[in-house]
Amino acid sequence: MSVEVLAPDLVRVRLPVPFPLGWVNVYGIRTATGAVLVDSGLRTPEALALLEEGFGALGLTLRSLRAVVVTHAHPDHVGLAGVLQQHTGAEVYFLDREEPVARRIWAEDPASRVRAITGMLRLHGTPPVWVDEAARQAERLRDLVSPFGPARTVRDGEVFELDGFRVQVRWTPGHSDGHMVLLDSQGRLFCGDHVLPDISPNISLYPEARPDPLGDYLASLRAVRDLPVRTAYPGHGDPFRGWAERVDELLEHHRARLHAAWELLPPQGCTAFELARRLFAEHFQERDGLPQVPLPLAVGEAAAHLERLVQEGRAARDGSVPVRYRPVGGLT
Ligand SMILES: [Zn+2]
Repeated sequence: MSVEVLAPDLVRVRLPVPFPLGWVNVYGIRTATGAVLVDSGLRTPEALALLEEGFGALGLTLRSLRAVVVTHAHPDHVGLAGVLQQHTGAEVYFLDREEPVARRIWAEDPASRVRAITGMLRLHGTPPVWVDEAARQAERLRDLVSPFGPARTVRDGEVFELDGFRVQVRWTPGHSDGHMVLLDSQGRLFCGDHVLPDISPNISLYPEARPDPLGDYLASLRAVRDLPVRTAYPGHGDPFRGWAERVDELLEHHRARLHAAWELLPPQGCTAFELARRLFAEHFQERDGLPQVPLPLAVGEAAAHLERLVQEGRAARDGSVPVRYRPVGGLT
């Protein structure tokens, strides 16, 4: 089922995405005179039709959309926002830190996103043929995100209110620098990709972004662990209860993963690409010379773990290009 009415004022619409995840959830919330949408899916005719169906299930039409609130600027969350803005007049909202990034990579300078991805892969030792392939994949994604017009912003800690939709905004950097989650007074948390029920969200290092995304992520997991969450509504997977337990699982996952990364570092050091091959060995069986894993995610995640190890004093980074990391110290 793509459309699921979860409460009289709340509908979940699962929209298809051409990534391993398969689906992204967006949530429509009825307001006093219309509706707010949390996240938007990709720019495809199918997504638009499914959203219309979802609004229909609440007795509304897309014309009544007042705002699209985007948890973070990844393509599957922001892709359709510009189209909805244009068709319905709805406002688009981001966290204040995410808006300039979203504007740059999807509206003003889309090539900068491809440059950031290829720059990161090169810096961390990815062979050129695979960098080129990643660039081609990143280019293809561009068509699935529509540029958007002037957007509005919300700030960490503020209570955002619009037409009866009222949520507390929390900045949760890690999965993206300007990621936010939204908590309403009923304990419903729209958590984007900060916490997912079935998988560990990707945490990747990018040259122009914050320098220790995994450190950010772990801190923002701890910061929202004890919020009064009754049900979490994630960007991928089913809505879930047991919020604090799931947060604890992710904290433990990364503790173990950091240790695994440290153990896999050879004494002479290696690049993040080489570490990714070891960390994600099962995904690295090559077919036609290309690895069966989205490289930016694998290499970015390995680099994020290595930078966290550097911050913890368990690894050292040399100044060469590509960047190499070597282990420091013993078991902790
Ligand atoms: Zn995401």
